[in-house]
Amino acid sequence: MARQTSQVEIQGKQLSLSNLQKVMYPATGFTKGQVIDYYVRVAPVLLPHLRGRPLTIAHEIPDAVVADLARRIHAGQCPKCQGPGPVDVHKAFSVWSAIAMTSWKTQPVIACQSCGTKAQVRALLSSTLLGWWGFPWGLLVTPMQIARNISALTRRPDPLTPSPELLRAARIHIATQAVAQAEAKG
Ligand SMILES: [Zn+2]
Repeated sequence: MARQTSQVEIQGKQLSLSNLQKVMYPATGFTKGQVIDYYVRVAPVLLPHLRGRPLTIAHEIPDAVVADLARRIHAGQCPKCQGPGPVDVHKAFSVWSAIAMTSWKTQPVIACQSCGTKAQVRALLSSTLLGWWGFPWGLLVTPMQIARNISALTRRPDPLTPSPELLRAARIHIATQAVAQAEAKG
């Protein structure tokens, strides 16, 4: 069989792609071309999360400052329902598909236990309804996201102390604010 090569232009750079018909996932017959196509489609969603400027600054914030903010969030009102805390990070895992495309995400929700549970149940239901229809990613990812929601629903954050996720969220919040302030000045 002749080796097939395709030329694509990405941001002015010529890229030569070979063997796009090569099967990467034998179980499903998913080819290299389809894998590349998939990454091109999800890139607009993924790339904003990879811009790591606040993350670099985040490492330089003293632990005590982070712990102090995390404690205040933890003991404060729920930002969603204004109800009493403890407020912590609840992760909701969702996935949706259209025929040739599947998109999934982990959405951290900073809220009270009851709002966190609601977000997880919503994600569980919508994933169950909307996740399956993409091939092959929908079939692979939907059971995983459903299982992750169920496990998050059964494993609750400690009501007495801020979780490591909340500490991380507090650190990123401070870093984001610092970047925003620096950009406003500059
Ligand atoms: Zn709430």
